[in-house]
Amino acid sequence: MAYDKIYLRRQRRLGRIYLRQDPRGRSVLLIPEGVDNRGAQLFLEGMNAPAFAPQARSLADTRALLEQLAHAYQAPLGLIALPRIELRAMDGFWGKCRFDEALILLNTECRSLPAEIIEALLVHELCHLRVHDHEPPFWRLMTELMPDWAFQEGRLRRMKT
Ligand SMILES: [Zn+2]
Repeated sequence: MAYDKIYLRRQRRLGRIYLRQDPRGRSVLLIPEGVDNRGAQLFLEGMNAPAFAPQARSLADTRALLEQLAHAYQAPLGLIALPRIELRAMDGFWGKCRFDEALILLNTECRSLPAEIIEALLVHELCHLRVHDHEPPFWRLMTELMPDWAFQEGRLRRMKT
């Protein structure tokens, strides 16, 4: 998929980047306020990256990967304790953060994704422990912790948007 012309539009409080068609058939990239143009660029590069093959990762290995990643981000996020991280079947969501319960839920289907995409999904939810909403400080924290998150997000959305 190649995009000749993409219009960028920033919108407050978006939970992620969306590529949409407007009523005139133009491609519009909806970007949360707080994500810079570099983030938009990386997202498009991710969408144009080669498709990934589904990974055959066991649930146990997926849990171990999540635990290892969470530990790596604990100090950068300044977290005294790590939240519980659980895999669940979820419709239409890759992840959720119940910050009041110190609980992060990730869709069980993430087991088939490349590790860097799982990392981007997890870091998003971990950042919610520090910033609960999707205002610009959230996206700045996300970019500081994982500079290529938007690339991974683009790879993920390439499959289904
Ligand atoms: Zn979020």
